[in-house]
Amino acid sequence: MTIQLHDTRQGKKVLFEPLREGEVTMYLCGPTVYNFAHIGNARPAVVFDLLARVLRRRYKLTFARNITDVDDKINAASVETGKPIGEITERFIDAYNDDMGALGVELPDIEPRATQHIEEMIAMIGKLIASGHAYEADGHVLFDVPSYPDYGALSKRDLREMIAGSRVEVAPYKRSAQDFVLWKPSTPELPGWDSPWGKGRPGWHIECSAMAEKHLGETIDIHAGGQDLVFPHHENELAQSRCAHDGADFARYWLHNGFLSIDHEKMSKSLGNVLLVHQLIETIPGEVIRLALLSAHYRQPLDWSDATIQSARRMLDRLYGAIRGIDVPADVQAAAGPPETLIAALEDDLNTPRAMAEFFALARELNKATDDEDRQRLAAAMQASGDLMGLLQVDPETWFAGHVQGDLSADDIAALLDERREARANRDFDAADAIRDKLLDAGITIEDGPGGTSWRRSG
Ligand code: AMP
Ligand code: ZN
Repeated sequence: MTIQLHDTRQGKKVLFEPLREGEVTMYLCGPTVYNFAHIGNARPAVVFDLLARVLRRRYKLTFARNITDVDDKINAASVETGKPIGEITERFIDAYNDDMGALGVELPDIEPRATQHIEEMIAMIGKLIASGHAYEADGHVLFDVPSYPDYGALSKRDLREMIAGSRVEVAPYKRSAQDFVLWKPSTPELPGWDSPWGKGRPGWHIECSAMAEKHLGETIDIHAGGQDLVFPHHENELAQSRCAHDGADFARYWLHNGFLSIDHEKMSKSLGNVLLVHQLIETIPGEVIRLALLSAHYRQPLDWSDATIQSARRMLDRLYGAIRGIDVPADVQAAAGPPETLIAALEDDLNTPRAMAEFFALARELNKATDDEDRQRLAAAMQASGDLMGLLQVDPETWFAGHVQGDLSADDIAALLDERREARANRDFDAADAIRDKLLDAGITIEDGPGGTSWRRSG
């Protein structure tokens, strides 16, 4: 059995072969920490967490997911809120890890922060200047794109066409419109570090190249991120790293997840439809969100709606329902593993829809089985599958009692219904509707009848 992955550069699914036998290195572009993560940001974190788990079954994996803690958006947030930059970044690093933890995302082996790798970035920029791939101009250092003829190979863009099609130069210090910033000057109020080119700060792309080199070596096996990062971020990382390493390849496989939309619309601040993980987990159990994010194949677009959440909730109810009440002896559990068919689906370019179909086939088999030993063996295989996928991580009784974090208990629901009754009595219909929506988000449907309001879980 082999692992197949879709490589963006080759544009197809290929056999995965790591550089060093038995070992894999993986780098995922992580968050820029100036705000809470939204549900779109959670998609790469969850998808590549699952890939890490699948790889760890066969290989010794070193997985790095960086933190971008120096960025103009962070500076802007500091000006806007009047809070020091360090306070903002610390707060949102913690929030990110808490939110992703609630979705069953394991911490990566290494979580490098950009601000702790400035020295490495300066060294790499120095090498690029020395080898003629970068130049200093007006306090900036720029990567000389035409000096690297393979530019565009990852994102399938033709460098000559890009040059021919480019408009009037935006920045006068650029030799070519495609050249991108490796280092830029800082004013006294902005974060800055001493460098051979004056006090300044790094460009975004060089951060990842330097951190990947430091922790994973010159050539890494897998580089991952959302599909919006293919160009220019990953194209630029690739160019810098290859030029700084005498042409050595940077990443052997490039993996990109598709985008998540909300009710068929792009998520954006201007549309006011940005869903923060931090808010979603108040009413929806993390496992429901995780499964919803894994319900489509990672390269496909994923539309997020109430139906997506309800369907994930129903699926988990069925899986938990199958193993409920079965006492699996520890030795039976220890000897169990996920079915080969489920593993094969995940090793086939992380085919999660097929893996879930296999999971349900197992649940059906368990529901039909009557022999106690068979039932224990099948329940153990289900638990092992859940452990691999980051699902079924609470006790079934806890799940059904609604005591899972984010799930509302009967008491919580009664309290909310009281609040709603009062809001309606005060003719505050907006507040009453908001409570109804909150309950709906948590999978609770309510019905007003002559005898009062009744509720049921819509799973
Ligand atoms: P950012 O903090 O904006 O750099 O984004 C962090 C990660 O989230 C990157 O890998 C992005 O590609 C990814 N991402 C951002 N928005 C979405 C979305 N709507 N759907 C899927 N991935 C996204
Ligand atoms: Zn990156």
